[in-house]
Parts: sequence; C-alpha cells; structure tokens
Amino acid sequence: MIEFLAQQLREREAQVLTRRRREASTPTAPMQTIDGRTMLAFCSNDYLGLANHPRVVAALQEGARRYGAGSGASHLISGHSQAHEQLEQRLASMAQTVIPDARCLSFCTGYMANLAAVSALGGDGTAIFSERLNHASLIDGVRLARGERRVFGAVDELRAQLAASGAARKLIVSDAVFSMDGHLAPLAELLQLAEQHDALLLVDDAHGFGVLGPRGHGSLAQLGLRSERIVLVGTLGKAAGVGGAFVAAHPVVIDWLLQTARPYIFTTASPPALAHALLSSLELIEGEEGERRRAQLELLQTQLQDGLAPAAAARGWTLPRSDTPIQPLIAGDNAAALALAARLEDQGIRVPAIRPPTVPAGTARLRITLCAAHSAEQVERLLQALLR
Ligand SMILES: *Cc1c(COP(=O)(O)O)cnc(C)c1O
Repeated sequence: MIEFLAQQLREREAQVLTRRRREASTPTAPMQTIDGRTMLAFCSNDYLGLANHPRVVAALQEGARRYGAGSGASHLISGHSQAHEQLEQRLASMAQTVIPDARCLSFCTGYMANLAAVSALGGDGTAIFSERLNHASLIDGVRLARGERRVFGAVDELRAQLAASGAARKLIVSDAVFSMDGHLAPLAELLQLAEQHDALLLVDDAHGFGVLGPRGHGSLAQLGLRSERIVLVGTLGKAAGVGGAFVAAHPVVIDWLLQTARPYIFTTASPPALAHALLSSLELIEGEEGERRRAQLELLQTQLQDGLAPAAAARGWTLPRSDTPIQPLIAGDNAAALALAARLEDQGIRVPAIRPPTVPAGTARLRITLCAAHSAEQVERLLQALLR
C-alpha cells in the first residue's frame, strides 16, 4: 500500500501536480509574511479585508470571554449557543432579500453546508441536476445523495434534461460565482427553469455573499431574483472574514435539514465566539463601511483589467471577463502558469497558480484575487511585475 501511494505521488510530481503548503506568520492582509518572507499577496478570499478588522477581532475576543473557547457538543445536544441563534436570525433576515420567510441554519464550513444540503435534499426519488463547473463540495454532496444525477454545462442542456426527467422531485444545483473563473452563473434562467419544472434551486454563493448586490446580500440579490424555491448557501470564511457557512431557505427546507442532514447533526457546533465575531462582520458588510469596501473593490477590478489587457493580447494570455474580485489570467499549460507565479514570487508578489484537476487541462492559470484592503499602488505593483 505505502509503495503504491509513493508511486502515485511520484507520478503527480512528474506531471507538475504536487501541491505544497506555505506558512503564514502574520494575519491575512495584502502584506503578509509567508515562509518567513513578507510578500504582497493576491491569493486570499478575504474580499472585504475583514479577516483582520479590529472590530471583528475584538468581537472574537469578547465572544471567547462570554462563551469560552469551544461549544462542547453538536447543535442538537447542547452546542447551539445564543450566539449561533443570533447569527442564524441575522442571516435569515439578510436572506429575505432573495427568499420570502427565509430561515437559516449555520454550519462549521461551506464544505459541510454543501454536503449537508445536497445530500439531504437529493434523496431517493429526487433527480439532481448539477452544473459542470460546481465546487468540489457540491460535487461530493451529489455523490453522497441517493437520487439520480445529471450534469449540465449550459442552460439548454439543463432544459432538455429537466424535460426528459420523470423524477417526482427535482433539485438544480449551481455555484453562483464560479470560483476559478469569477463569472456568474445564469441564475435568472436557472430560476425560471426551476419554476417551470417545480424544482428547488440550490445556489452556492461562496464568492458573492458580502461582495455583490445591495448591502452585500449576494449574487441573487444583485440580479433582483427572489423565490421560495431558492436554497441559498453562503460561506462566512471568505468576504465575512471569519469561518463557517449557512444555508437559508423556506422554513420547511430548513426543518428538513435540521432533522436529517448528517453533516449538520453529527458534528460539534463551531465555537460560539466565531458566531459572535460574525455578528460584527455582518454589521460591517451591511453598513456604510461595507459599501465603501465594495466600491474600492470595483475600482481595483477595473484598474487590473484595463492594465492587463494590452499585455495579455501580446503574450497569448486569456483574461476571461469577470465582474468579481476573482480575476483569472489563463496561461495554458501547467509549467507556464507555475513559471509566471515563480517570477512574481521572485519580485515579492504572491499569486497562486491553479492547475488541473482544479481547472480543465490546458487552462492552468494565475488566480488573482483582489481585496478591498489592497491599495491602487499595490495593484499597480502587480501590473508592473506582470508586464516585465
Ligand atoms: C470556498 C468554497 C466552498 C467551501 O467553503 P468553506 O467554508 O471554505 O468550506 C464552497 N463552495 C464554493 C464555491 C467555495 O468557493
């Protein structure tokens, strides 16, 4: 067994697929000390710069003083604290923008929220229609579910699959913002199909929540969509800067998850202090400071795109259009993407190279992520380094 695994690892190495971790010794911020070296980083999902916001950090400390370090048990035993309850209520009220009468359930991570929601809603007799580019956690949720599965790559394909399906119940599952491309799913069309076919639409807004839409209410809010068929998953470790996730949906759907979703039931509730800190970060997201931070992000996105376009044309890079902080630069093969990342690193700039299987073969890329805490000067530094 060990020899077999070692052989597999050597094969990955030969294909330039080996992943390595780096060690950060300072808080998440544009200037971060990684492996002992202070670098300008364009790699976190802390889009609003809240991970090290003094108010959020202070709330985490206060939460620890008030509730202690750990929750001690799962939500259904004794781990569901007042802080979790307040967090769920606040998130539910935010979700009312897109779901009438929304209720909400909090989770330790987005990965678990997706496993829970997809597997619990996609039981026997339910057909699941899953977008091809979905995040690994949705794909794994589909694998755990017992219903029949279809994978679609375009709205027309989904339409045909729905029309052909004889399933009693239907669940459509899609990322809102595709994490490696930054583009939005055709959510209006997906919702229309869900309505036509009496289906639920599960939308994973990991990258839109906090960033897009009025008051940061996300991708669906940005598009003005609202329906009781929507099951909204949001993560709280990205724009919200802390950790955890939530599912918001019709009250009956939430009750069903609470009663049956194994990744909800059989795990220790997250530390209540995290929920307490998240209340502060939601306050920031919905308020004026959130508006300012979202406006700054948009300025930086435009600056980066305008600055990169000429060089991309000259060097054969592809820059898919993205109106989100995720800005991919597609270099092509694995070695080219790694070489670009290495040259940036030589200049003190960290941008991760993303390779297959995370993205399709032949589309290895730099995944530049912008954060409201970046300055225009820092984005200029990245541009100058890429142009060199
Ligand atoms: C990050 C991410 C997740 C997982 O969320 P975690 O809280 O990090 O576990 C789920 N879906 C998408 C689209 C993501 O980008």
